[in-house]
Amino acid sequence: MKIVQEEFRVNSKSRNQMIDITSQVRSFVGQSDISYGDVIVYCPHTTAAITINENADPSVPHDILLTMEELMPHHRPGYRHSEGNSDAHCKSSLFGCSEQIMIKDKSLNLGTWQAVFFCEFDGPRTRKVVLQIRGE
Ligand code: ZN
Repeated sequence: MKIVQEEFRVNSKSRNQMIDITSQVRSFVGQSDISYGDVIVYCPHTTAAITINENADPSVPHDILLTMEELMPHHRPGYRHSEGNSDAHCKSSLFGCSEQIMIKDKSLNLGTWQAVFFCEFDGPRTRKVVLQIRGE
């Protein structure tokens, strides 16, 4: 089994934003010598996340962020964290900091409507995404 690690940067433009990174992940997987295996898409941040969802209709990421704002508002009585970004930490933990995607024939084995998103919850910032591609 071969293991390759890669990383790239993502520049978010607003406080809450879902950025489609499928093409970057697909490109790194295509450049690796791995035909069958998996890729872990990992985000080493505490106020951002990785998720898989639909991007055929851009209303879907919009509606996800709208729902998150209602569930976890930026300002809320009772928050103690002094940075003022408690909502971003909560959203990061809810979504999780990684996703694992199968590789088949050197391609991401995603569903027709699935895309990989970097989720920014405390932007705008420059962020890092780490990939671990493993297989044969
Ligand atoms: Zn914080």
